[in-house]
Amino acid sequence: MKLKKQDPQVAKLIELETERQKTSLEMIPSENHSSPAVREALGSLLTDKYAEGYPGKRYYAGLKYYDILENLCQDRAKKLFGVAHVNVQPYSGSPANAAVYMAVCEPGDTIMGMALPMGGHLTHGWKVNFSAKFYNSVQYGVDEKTGLINYDEVEKLAKEKKPKLIFVGATAYSRIFDWKRLGEIADSVGAYLAADIAHIAGLVAGGAHPSPVPYVHIVSTTTHKTLRGPRGGMIMVTQKGVEKDPDLPKKIDRAIFPGLQGGPHMHQIAGIAVCLKEASTPAFKKYAKQIVKNARALAKELKEYGFNLVSGGTDNHLILIDLRNKNIAGPEAQDLLEEAGITINKNSIPFDPAPPFKPSGIRMGTPAITTRGMKEKEMKIIAGWINEVVSNKNSVKKVREEIKKLCKKFPLPK
Ligand SMILES: *Cc1c(COP(=O)(O)O)cnc(C)c1O
Repeated sequence: MKLKKQDPQVAKLIELETERQKTSLEMIPSENHSSPAVREALGSLLTDKYAEGYPGKRYYAGLKYYDILENLCQDRAKKLFGVAHVNVQPYSGSPANAAVYMAVCEPGDTIMGMALPMGGHLTHGWKVNFSAKFYNSVQYGVDEKTGLINYDEVEKLAKEKKPKLIFVGATAYSRIFDWKRLGEIADSVGAYLAADIAHIAGLVAGGAHPSPVPYVHIVSTTTHKTLRGPRGGMIMVTQKGVEKDPDLPKKIDRAIFPGLQGGPHMHQIAGIAVCLKEASTPAFKKYAKQIVKNARALAKELKEYGFNLVSGGTDNHLILIDLRNKNIAGPEAQDLLEEAGITINKNSIPFDPAPPFKPSGIRMGTPAITTRGMKEKEMKIIAGWINEVVSNKNSVKKVREEIKKLCKKFPLPK
């Protein structure tokens, strides 16, 4: 209410975006609709204070409630994921990963990660990113035939290049990770193994994807994707990690502060604490399982319309579609679907012959529409709309109206 009076320009933009979210289907797999409780914590006056340091060891005064809050947030994360140590201060996923490198590597050390065009993340050693500029990056990918991570290639490269750190995690991979095999590979060469569960953290928390915790040393994540919290990040150290290197928790904490960041965003940590409480409930377990059921239902329908899914389907929250048999490029499909009220994104497919700014694929996911309460029945309808829009530009207007109607029946979280 205050904002509208004081700054009508910003207020208007927020109002327009709220209306956009209410009336369209958010199907970018890295996005979600956070709860009003999470946003209340995020919008609190906790944003006002500096809290450099960690609970009990701060560099500023006036922080007694912040210590309690950060400890509470840490305890909730430790319990939910079953880890020995957690740092809840990373501003987001990329800074969290930067801290992991800084904790266990020296500049110039060899690191391994999945290549970006294969479904990996920029911070896993892609050439334009710090992770390839400051470290000697070796990249693995997926098998061209199956679309699955090429574990044999990972093993061969690890034995040959002897990386200090191996990152595993993805932004466009629709299958389950074989954490056990990856753990064996890392152990065989003495490497630290970091699981980046940014996309699947909510599925892991809700028991809808196997947890990497027993097999890896470090787990990094964002908090705003399937975990459905505020934008943020966390780094966890597992029991296995502590056994490999008892100083690992300290190394991670020092890498975040004073290594990389200054004052933590305490309003964000409050929001993460709220989201972790939400993610510990039976309702969230049900939610996580429904995300996967919905993605599977959507995949099945799309396949029946002749869409070509990378790896043939999905085990998680996302679907990667190779559009080459559909006579439309990724960007055009993205734009038409946006006009109709379905927000997805263009994406490279593994071994994409097209350039990254005009890729042959699109990526979509079910976390946000599942938050709205949609189920398999709605997935069937949505798959039909996607097919209509991609095959016939003239259907956009009609589909737009139908989507508005569906959205009215499934309001954003209240
Ligand atoms: C989203 C993502 C990140 C980075 O998160 P930001 O919050 O955008 O910095 C890192 N790794 C993976 C696998 C991701 O999907």
